[in-house]
Amino acid sequence: MVQSAPTRPLDLDSLRAAAHAFARDEMRPVALSYDESEEYPLDVLRRAAAAGLTHYDLPTEYGGSGVESLSDRCAVIEELAWGDSPIFWVIAQGGFFAGPLLALGSEEQKQRWLPALCSAEPPACSVAITEPEHGSDAAAIETTATRRDGGYVLNGRKKFIGNGHIADLCIVFATVEPGSRSRGVTAFLVEAGDEGFVRGPRLPKMGSRCFPAAEVSFDDCFVPEDRRLGAEGAAFRGLMWVFDVARIQLAAASVGLGRAALELAVDYAKEREAFGRPIHEFQAVSFRLAEVKLKLDQARLMTHRAAELADTGHPFSTEAAMAKLAASEASVFAASAAVMTLGGAGYIRDSLAQKWYRDAKLDEIWDGTSDIMRLLIARSLFA
Ligand SMILES: Cc1cc2nc3c(=O)[nH]c(=O)nc-3n(C[C@H](O)[C@H](O)[C@H](O)COP(=O)(O)OP(=O)(O)OC[C@H]3O[C@@H](n4cnc5c(N)ncnc54)[C@H](O)[C@@H]3O)c2cc1C
Repeated sequence: MVQSAPTRPLDLDSLRAAAHAFARDEMRPVALSYDESEEYPLDVLRRAAAAGLTHYDLPTEYGGSGVESLSDRCAVIEELAWGDSPIFWVIAQGGFFAGPLLALGSEEQKQRWLPALCSAEPPACSVAITEPEHGSDAAAIETTATRRDGGYVLNGRKKFIGNGHIADLCIVFATVEPGSRSRGVTAFLVEAGDEGFVRGPRLPKMGSRCFPAAEVSFDDCFVPEDRRLGAEGAAFRGLMWVFDVARIQLAAASVGLGRAALELAVDYAKEREAFGRPIHEFQAVSFRLAEVKLKLDQARLMTHRAAELADTGHPFSTEAAMAKLAASEASVFAASAAVMTLGGAGYIRDSLAQKWYRDAKLDEIWDGTSDIMRLLIARSLFA
């Protein structure tokens, strides 16, 4: 495996500026064509790896740049997702895959798999929790892990798995005690060549089209014991923590997408004329965009509050849910407002506005739907 240049400590301003420049020059110009073709943006991923943007958030001992602060990561994520949200998710997959590995894995396991994520050619990574019959209720998963001859045999199906049809590495959540809900949930690392690990088919999507999602299945798939991450039954708590962190990062990405949509709409509203004047002079248009600005700034503040709580070792689960809910809904609102501001031009397929509208919707669904975020916030009120 070719290793990228040695990493050096980075200050936030230069990292953020590098992320913005990469987003502007390497992501935004190709965003529409990747959406149309649904191709995996491998060339952009390679350039992001060379620029250190695939592994800035991984610890230095495994080859990353060691940006530990979630607040700092959120600042970088906002810039990258401003460039293009689905391409950002392709670039970010290694970091998201590293979450459960860092939370649950042994030092030997981290040494074994994390350095590749920091290489010039990062492997395609997946984290597989959701099943055809169980999504929001992750404790109900039915994929089984049965002990056998120095390891486990996995059986079951997973659905909507990011990178699933091309996964070189996949962390799969299965149960060692069917019917016991969270008590049996255990994590395993499966590799592409493992017999019985079936990747695909890829699922056609409404948006986020160049970031692929697929089914994966495990048909008597044997994994040796040293691929179990953490103790038997220990994965569910780790998973909930990983979800909380992921929701904050997802919120930052939603804010980035929404910001891009707002900028597009403002620029258009300055140029486009109707009834003899620029359309931003109509209060209906300018107030709609003022509302977008308000919602995005609220969401960004909530995202950074949640990140700072996490960074300073305070409980942050409810704040993560609030940030994810506020940011994903602000992003959909912003993209919808952009389509409306552009009028017919916003609905045509060569417009980024319609693409962002389709892309933004995903953020209200994955890593816990808006309904589930409301449920978590409500629970915190009556705990
Ligand atoms: C493009 C894409 C990529 C994804 N990537 C991954 C991935 O990489 N790995 C992975 O494991 N998963 C992934 N997912 C799955 C995603 O996290 C789930 O789709 C999501 O958690 C919702 O689960 P579900 O689709 O089964 O919906 P369900 O749980 O069936 O929910 C259906 C509806 O019922 C509502 N609902 C359910 N329970 C409640 C409740 N208790 N209270 C109120 N409302 C409720 C939901 O809000 C929703 O509106 C991805 C999904 C998509 C679309």
